[in-house]
Amino acid sequence: MEGRSIIVVGGGTSGWLTAAYLARAFEGRVSITLLESPGIGIIGVGEGAFPTIRETLRYIGIDEARFVRQAGATFKQGVRFDDWLHAPAGKRRHRYLHPFEPPFHGGEASLVPYWLLKDADNRPPFAEAMTIQNRVAEAARGPKRPGEGEYDGPLAYAYHFDAHRLADLLRTRAIELGVRHLEGVLTGVEPDGAGGIARIHSDAHGALAADLFVDCSGFRAELIGRTLGASFRSAKAHLFTDRALACKIPYDHPDAPIESVTTATAHEGGWIWDIGLQGARGLGCVFSSAHVSDGRAAEILRGYVGHDRFNARIIPFEPGYRETQWVGNCVAVGLSGGFLEPLESTGIVLIEAAAAMIAELFPFGGPIDAPAARFNTLMTARYAAITNFLKLHYCLSRRDEPFWRDNVAAASIPDALATLLAQWRHRPPSRFDFTVDVESFAWFNYQYVLYGMEFETDLSGARDRFGDAERAERWFERIRGFGRQAVADLPEHRALVRQLEGGVSA
Ligand code: FAD
Repeated sequence: MEGRSIIVVGGGTSGWLTAAYLARAFEGRVSITLLESPGIGIIGVGEGAFPTIRETLRYIGIDEARFVRQAGATFKQGVRFDDWLHAPAGKRRHRYLHPFEPPFHGGEASLVPYWLLKDADNRPPFAEAMTIQNRVAEAARGPKRPGEGEYDGPLAYAYHFDAHRLADLLRTRAIELGVRHLEGVLTGVEPDGAGGIARIHSDAHGALAADLFVDCSGFRAELIGRTLGASFRSAKAHLFTDRALACKIPYDHPDAPIESVTTATAHEGGWIWDIGLQGARGLGCVFSSAHVSDGRAAEILRGYVGHDRFNARIIPFEPGYRETQWVGNCVAVGLSGGFLEPLESTGIVLIEAAAAMIAELFPFGGPIDAPAARFNTLMTARYAAITNFLKLHYCLSRRDEPFWRDNVAAASIPDALATLLAQWRHRPPSRFDFTVDVESFAWFNYQYVLYGMEFETDLSGARDRFGDAERAERWFERIRGFGRQAVADLPEHRALVRQLEGGVSA
């Protein structure tokens, strides 16, 4: 029997990552073609990833040094949130870290209850007490030593990178893995009369047929949206941001330290991402058009940067996702399937989840849409779960601008999140709160945000269950000691990047 065939439409991060992933998974048993239009181009934002990217890159066979060199990557150890709880008051600013490393375990017992039972006015911030990553990131150290195993190290990490260079690298790797590359514009789609696609047409290559079409055409959603009309579920009732003003700012000098966390600074109507890339900082002012005009957003960004010698481009987006992401013989991956907002860098996480699911559920015989219902259930549940996690960042704020007040309004909080928040008043987030297969974030990610935002979990009624406070205290002291040691042992972040690039040694 002839093997099955796949056409991917779109050559951004989603198109090339999916093509490379499937080529690696199918090892030549399925023919894979990718059509992209260099004229239309890619969105070119998305400079932050999540730790899952390490396993994905390893799987598709890109070694870490090559990735750092070719995608212009730096290390990311989490996200630091400035001014989310309170607006800055003079020099007083609130900040907390959401590190990637889970909280330290004190032997067999979780230390979280012991932290919760400490005096709220005198205990150290949650992330500082629970992990050494807080100290490592504050000292602008990398998460690993050069020479440590590929994609491995003592601390969980992801990367920041140049989105265009990442797509180029993934293209090169996908072609190495046997993906056929076509350049041309998709000019039309012939339906198959059964709710799917018979052929696509392109200016340069005529009619192209396949068993499965993967729509990676970005916000244009050429196949899943324009052709098949899969309905879009807006998340606007919960997540208000819908525009970003993005730019690049060069460093003051070539040896300037590079932050190894994304900084997310709240402003009156949204937040600003600040990402330390190799040659420049990537910045974006994310905002709600219902609360802030484009002009005001530009002023906020200029205020943050401290000058106006940069060009920024506006990127509109509608937070939400397709209710059916796999329709007939077409499956959407990336922006065509949905996008919530840039907070916590979930774009690539969703691409990785979709690509892995397609690889594993792909039918080598029988109806090509056999996995569609399951795929749709799992992907929409994943989008809904991410919506809850993102909303958590906003709904605990005590800021008083209209954007923040609207975000705290009970009607804007998804029911599932409201139910969990009510429970978390009396116990911390637990692994049993979440269904692993549809979650991008775990209980500890929720804990970092919740307690970073000074949410109160009252465990006083269970104090006698946590009687070994002295032992817990010794663990907290050890974590502080390990943190000091790690800062001394780990290389400075820029030096680590240079080392991996094959430049100056760390
Ligand atoms: P695109 O990059 O838009 O690619 C679409 C492709 O389809 C292009 O190759 C285009 O040429 C092609 N195409 C379209 N129409 C046609 C046609 N008719 N014929 C032929 N080809 C066509 N994600 C993260 O993980 N981390 C982040 O920090 C992050 N930040 C973001 C910030 C903003 C403001 C936005 C909007 C998104 C962000 N994302 C982030 C999401 C991330 O950018 C995307 O998930 C990722 O870039 C994938 O995009 P894509 O490949 O789906 O679409």
